[in-house]
Amino acid sequence: MTAERTPPAATILGYPRIGPRRELKHALEAYWAGRATADDLHRTGRRLREQTWRRLAALGLATPPSNTFSLYDHVLDTAALLDAVPDRFRGGTALDTYFAMARGTGTVPPLRMTKWFDTNYHYIVPEIGPDTAFRLAGDKPLAEVREARRIGVATRPVLLGPVTFLLLAQAAPGAPAGFAPLDRLGDVVAVYRELLAALAAEGAGQVQLDEPALVTDLTPAALTAVETCYSRLGRSPSRPELLVATYFGHPGAALPVLAGTPVEAIGLDLVRGAQTLADPAALAALAGKTVVAGVVSGRDVWRTDRDRALAALRTVREHAAQVVVGTSCPLLHVPYDAEAETGLDPALRRRLAFAEQKVAEVVELAGLPARSAPGTPLPAAPPPAAPATLPEPGSRAPYQVRAAAQAAHLRLPDLPTTTIGSFPQTGDLRAARAALAAGRLTAAEYEERVRAKIEHVVRLQERLGLDVLVHGEPERNDMVQYFAEHLDGFAVTRHGWVQSYGSRCTRPPIIHGDVRRPAPITVRWARHARSLTERPVKGMLTGPVTIVAWSFPRPDLPLAQVVFQVAEAVRAEVADLEAAGVSVIQVDEPALRELLPLRRAGQDEYLAWAVAAYRRATSGAADRTQIHTHLCYSDAEQILAAVDALDADVTSVESARSDGRILAGPAVRGFARGLGPGVYDIHSPRVPTGAEIEKSLRAALDALPAARVWVNPDCGLKTRAYAEVEAALTTMVAVARRLRAEA
Ligand code: GLN
Ligand code: ZN
Repeated sequence: MTAERTPPAATILGYPRIGPRRELKHALEAYWAGRATADDLHRTGRRLREQTWRRLAALGLATPPSNTFSLYDHVLDTAALLDAVPDRFRGGTALDTYFAMARGTGTVPPLRMTKWFDTNYHYIVPEIGPDTAFRLAGDKPLAEVREARRIGVATRPVLLGPVTFLLLAQAAPGAPAGFAPLDRLGDVVAVYRELLAALAAEGAGQVQLDEPALVTDLTPAALTAVETCYSRLGRSPSRPELLVATYFGHPGAALPVLAGTPVEAIGLDLVRGAQTLADPAALAALAGKTVVAGVVSGRDVWRTDRDRALAALRTVREHAAQVVVGTSCPLLHVPYDAEAETGLDPALRRRLAFAEQKVAEVVELAGLPARSAPGTPLPAAPPPAAPATLPEPGSRAPYQVRAAAQAAHLRLPDLPTTTIGSFPQTGDLRAARAALAAGRLTAAEYEERVRAKIEHVVRLQERLGLDVLVHGEPERNDMVQYFAEHLDGFAVTRHGWVQSYGSRCTRPPIIHGDVRRPAPITVRWARHARSLTERPVKGMLTGPVTIVAWSFPRPDLPLAQVVFQVAEAVRAEVADLEAAGVSVIQVDEPALRELLPLRRAGQDEYLAWAVAAYRRATSGAADRTQIHTHLCYSDAEQILAAVDALDADVTSVESARSDGRILAGPAVRGFARGLGPGVYDIHSPRVPTGAEIEKSLRAALDALPAARVWVNPDCGLKTRAYAEVEAALTTMVAVARRLRAEA
């Protein structure tokens, strides 16, 4: 006789997919470079998926998720699955089309890419029009169910929910005014019904539909869409059980709507969305449902506070029909395994939980008795808020005064040309860093190579005719990790990679103590670059918000306080650069938008302290020192007033990749300082034409006075090859000179 099967009491919503040693990255890059076949790529994918399922089953998950793997991005997977493929990408194999949408081709630029909610993961933005002919065009979710079953693992397929998919999509070019992708909900739901039937036939007992958009402020139309979508899917004639996963916050008004539909299970983020636990109406709505109680955070690297988690579970158990212990969100945003970090201080390592450890935590929590008496008050975790007192941001002279001082000092032409900071990170640089780490290269030898690269980059820029030069950042493995390695209070990992987009990963440092700058960080490189040329060279720093956003912050201090500690370190570095004679200093803040709370409430407060921290970092600069900042891939147009309030003299932003949307809106006309809307996209290997660059630049000149327009690419050039960079910058400089002469 077999034992009666108890329902799985623990689960996770998703798992990292890049591979513990970034196997997928290497396979993708080999395939793109023509060094490997599509079969090779698929073989690596299959191996990673199987490895993951086996591991999750071994850790004790009865039904691990499937279809959480992706060759590039899960939103793009969904568009491909539904055949939401703009015609310009069609042709070639399905794989060609897929990568064309992600990366462009020689002639067609890729789809837009932007950040996934408040994370540093970027998704590909689908284009949906009134005529997009949705149909079930692939079988990836089904194939993964079969694949897992072949190795003896029953899985729960994960799909992106229709509402989130459509809310994240943008209207196809040429769609009539007033059209929104959400208008197509009925057609998309029809395809999902077909898919659910196929998954049921394949033997999937439950399907997970991810709806993180439900934790944002939804319009009445979107709330209606939630109702319509899940009522219809719930009434599908043959379907598996439905788990709708909300995450990254609390679902608020969407929860009773969702709970009113026939879906069997709801996923709640009880870390970032802990306020659901204090909302009697929300708790009441859970009656009769299974709840996947997300008590183990998928957004940090710390071990779970067991008492808090158990208290949350107790509260949910009092209201829901059944409770499954889960992660707050998919584990896509944390690294694989803290145990692999043998170089970390053991005391710190013991406090860490990466994906592996988080899986063990959900299993362990599910096995614990719901200890202690009901009704014990929940230990309140205060949401990271600004502390009562933060240092004064300080201020500089008015922009006009500074602009005059800088013009006299720098003597730049109109439409000055510059780049965002990094030049190609070539294989020789990475090899030199590896050799240094392995002791095969002395510090002096490494230093010499970096200095030679700086000289190379400076000479190249002189030859190309750029006006404000950069040193090219050859010494930096990463714009955040580099600073983390030189500041107290940070630890860096060896294998702690997290996917950022496609094959790109970052290793977010871990902030575990007070941040201090023991010594100047960038000054000697800046001094070297300066010594090589008569032209101005920009000093290059990462801003306090971005350093913290792209790290895992300590849990025991309000976020604002951590950011201000970093601001103090950046401020000291700005002062030292100035003292070394650097008269243009860029302090990048590409993550400013990323930390914006997902709901309107709290956004103003966040922007106030984030802007104040930036000003704290930069307000010590003299009037004639030109402060630049840079933001990218972030819908910066939504927070343009705050960007203006940073009070940087010049701001460069991504614009070309998003088709100039920052210039199209009204906000840009109120922008009172220098602005460099990127004139070409750097995330794609294709070299822009002069006509494209000219179009971007003319759009900037239409929106802003010529005296405040800068000419630059969308972002840094680190991921590109020198040949592409030279060709693109030659064109950029030529176009700038031509329009300058016209003015
Ligand atoms: N200065 C950095 C670079 O050029 C900025 C990168 C970024 O915005 N992400 O690479
Ligand atoms: Zn950028």
